[in-house]
Amino acid sequence: MNPRPLTTAPGVHIITLGCPKNEADSRTLTRRLASEGIRVVEEPLEASHVLLNTCGFIEDARKESIGAILEAAAAYPTARLHVMGCLVERYRAELEEGLPEVHGWYGLTELGALTAILQAEAGAAVGRESDAVGSVIPASDQTSSGSGPLSAHAYVKISDGCDHLCSFCAIPNIKGPYHSLAPDEVIEQVEGALDTGARELVLVGQDTTLWHADGMDLLDLVALISEDERVLRVRLMYLQPEHVDDRFLTAMAGYPKLCRYLDIPFQHAHRDILRAMGRRGDATAYLRLLERARSIMPDVSVRSTFIVGFPGETEEHVEALADFMRAARFDHAGAFAFSAEEGTPAATLSKRPSARVVRQRMSYVSAILAESAEHACRARLGERVEVLIDAPADADTPEGTVAIGRTRAQAPDVDGVTYLVGQPPPRAAVGDRVQAVVVEAIGHDLVAEPDAIEPA
Ligand code: SF4
Repeated sequence: MNPRPLTTAPGVHIITLGCPKNEADSRTLTRRLASEGIRVVEEPLEASHVLLNTCGFIEDARKESIGAILEAAAAYPTARLHVMGCLVERYRAELEEGLPEVHGWYGLTELGALTAILQAEAGAAVGRESDAVGSVIPASDQTSSGSGPLSAHAYVKISDGCDHLCSFCAIPNIKGPYHSLAPDEVIEQVEGALDTGARELVLVGQDTTLWHADGMDLLDLVALISEDERVLRVRLMYLQPEHVDDRFLTAMAGYPKLCRYLDIPFQHAHRDILRAMGRRGDATAYLRLLERARSIMPDVSVRSTFIVGFPGETEEHVEALADFMRAARFDHAGAFAFSAEEGTPAATLSKRPSARVVRQRMSYVSAILAESAEHACRARLGERVEVLIDAPADADTPEGTVAIGRTRAQAPDVDGVTYLVGQPPPRAAVGDRVQAVVVEAIGHDLVAEPDAIEPA
């Protein structure tokens, strides 16, 4: 496509869709663009280039990504639209044919080409233009989606790809085999995040437990990251059950900055379904794992995710799953309807429960998980907690709230939050760490009164 003449001061606005790994990728790209002298702007209308980082994991995510492309093309007609990420990796040919309004498509290994194009189109003019117009996000404050300079947490991608080959999952087809990012690539992200004010680093990958490089394993990496005194917390997401053994749990308990938080996507609990998913374990093994975790770390918080409606799933399988969920007492958990992903073995399986049956099963198990999470919140009443402030109060927060934060048991974006209240109102800024007492539980959220504040 012939590049449309630039009518707006050169600058790039980044829109990020999908998972925390995409967030981490957009942050890394933002820092790279800035270090190349390319302006990354907060306001899309001030951008000569709009870059969309897409998700192609499941049907809903694909619809959202394509919707966002069409929306951006309509909303920013003077900008050059570039699209990257998993959607491109999976459907480039169809996208190029179907969406001529997009200037460039970039797969996961083409970020160098993307940077070069942006350098050529948006970077070259920086000298002449920069002080003229628009709010530019300074290099050190540039965050992933241009949504404001400061966040108390940041996602740090430590690996990509996956060797597990679960029968329902398209990620191995999209991202290829598992590979750990080198320690210096991880530390580059960490330093970039700390420079933007993040104090909690959330390590993400498809299976973070498998990370290893330069003779180091995951917990060695946690120790390396924790050396920076600006780091208040490290959190691990996407742990696969077969790698969460006693050695890992016992070692994990020895890292003071590491949140006692286990995000383990069990996906199901009945042996038949797990085997059809290409996964190991079962309810008995998983309950034993949780029992070990709670005996080694009594204050551990557990999150999980489940798939409902897998081909061949019967009422008996669902009852076994429900029994497991009740016995497991999750602090946080979510259930998702099976999605037949093109190119995956599970997409060819027969005996798929009807959409009506899947809806019934989803509401049945979601009610169990919601009750479990609410019970876990009520059990924290009177508990002393450490709250990391993420944001000031806003119009939607309960009356008397002065700030919103999260305890060590609450991951960003997926778990509940903690509202800080108090008379006189405590002065708590984003990134501050607050010692507080839980005075109320509201569904999956907590309300706490501070008794000590440690500024960021
Ligand atoms: S472990 Fe996760 S990313 Fe890997 S194949 Fe299974 S579901 Fe997909």
